[in-house]
Amino acid sequence: MVTKQRKLSELSEHERQLTPVYGRRAMDHAVPKFALPEHELDPDVAYNLIHDELMLDGNARLNLATFVTTWMEPQAEKLMAECFDKNMIDKDEYPYTAMIEERCINIVTRLFNAPETGVGASAIGSSEAVMLAGMALKWKWRERMKAKDKPTDKPNIVMGNNVQVVWEKFARYWDVEPRYIEMEPDQYTITPKGVLDVVDENTIGVIPILGVTYTGAFEPVEAIHDALVEHNAKTGHDIPIHVDAASGGFVAPFLHPELKWDFRLPLVKSINVSGHKYGLVYPGIGWVAWRSHEDLPSDLIFHVNYLGGDMPTFTLNFSRPGNQVVAQYYNFIRLGRAGYKRAFEQMRDVATHLASEIEKTGRFDLLSRGDTIPVLAFALKDSSHYTVYDLSAKLREHGWQVPAYTMPPKVEHLAVLRIVVREGFSRDLADMLIQDLHAAIEHFESQPGYKPAHTGKTGKVHKPC
Ligand SMILES: *Cc1c(COP(=O)(O)O)cnc(C)c1O
Repeated sequence: MVTKQRKLSELSEHERQLTPVYGRRAMDHAVPKFALPEHELDPDVAYNLIHDELMLDGNARLNLATFVTTWMEPQAEKLMAECFDKNMIDKDEYPYTAMIEERCINIVTRLFNAPETGVGASAIGSSEAVMLAGMALKWKWRERMKAKDKPTDKPNIVMGNNVQVVWEKFARYWDVEPRYIEMEPDQYTITPKGVLDVVDENTIGVIPILGVTYTGAFEPVEAIHDALVEHNAKTGHDIPIHVDAASGGFVAPFLHPELKWDFRLPLVKSINVSGHKYGLVYPGIGWVAWRSHEDLPSDLIFHVNYLGGDMPTFTLNFSRPGNQVVAQYYNFIRLGRAGYKRAFEQMRDVATHLASEIEKTGRFDLLSRGDTIPVLAFALKDSSHYTVYDLSAKLREHGWQVPAYTMPPKVEHLAVLRIVVREGFSRDLADMLIQDLHAAIEHFESQPGYKPAHTGKTGKVHKPC
């Protein structure tokens, strides 16, 4: 029997509903992509079209490049879905979401040992949190200078050239001179001496990083603090510290409770941390905490009342979904101290296991071993036959996303691979990765005439993110 081909429009409603999703017109006709289509699509068809395009993205769980959470418990996902429609900024309409945010801020400031708890804000990520903290530093510096009747037109901020790009943005957008301390061979963090060499009375703050993006290293916050205490006493300066703890802020209190990096150090006035990194929440949530009310200038806080009620806010953007804040609170009460500790211990064990297996290949120098935060970076001892870029591309064939990039200026001759271990990356997956790394090495080394295809020498320095 030959059935006549009919157009979808000729089908009865009943027949149309029975048409398989992939038999419908939209599935063999291109849908306009850059202009709003004239007509509607069936919701299933629209869903499948987009769903299928997104299949071509990398698998988030095999993405070892990102610090950002790629797995949460189904209960957390359910809560998040229940809050998609709540606008975080409408604190008067969603007072219980606002209350949960307030609790989270108290939990975070307590975790960082603030003498006065509850002075902080939630943000879309550490980047927004950094902008808020940076502004507070600039405002406080201006107050100090005005009180001394000194000019306020040349503020500077002191940090390593290993900072995450957000600090470069802060300096440019808020017109603050960035003073970068350069890394040196075998010295990939800033040092107290490096800091003292460049600070002056126009320094709005010094920014050590707890969990350097390139390697996961902790910068020596306490040593820098002590050097600054002495410097301030000698010079009459009043230079404070802000700690960029985007990736280390949630890990250090559990894996390194003895390490003094937070508000236990008096010159630490503010701290940012990414809830969507080791706070173990899906993107985007970040937190900024201040030592006390004194460190957050009140003229940065806006009071908005047109949504009903008086609402103090310190944010750059306005509307934002409430679901990440709720998910953060879920993790806080679900995991507690014991749960976070156990999760990080497991990640550290996987990371240090990876580090020792990578070391055993004899091919790499390790810049970090996963024992600060569960992040490791390693460089090839010999790049004359194949490079870390080749290895990265080869691993990608198996779905692994292990980024390769150069270290900051002055040590940019060094190209490394970096692995970020997150929740959901099991020992089993780690062993499969090691197997694939062995196979990749084997692949390149069994071709004596092989010429590296990706030398990575594009002349451009790509910052890791
Ligand atoms: C990730 C990161 C940031 C930016 O944080 P987001 O939460 O992604 O905005 C800033 N600083 C450091 C050290 C980071 O690792």
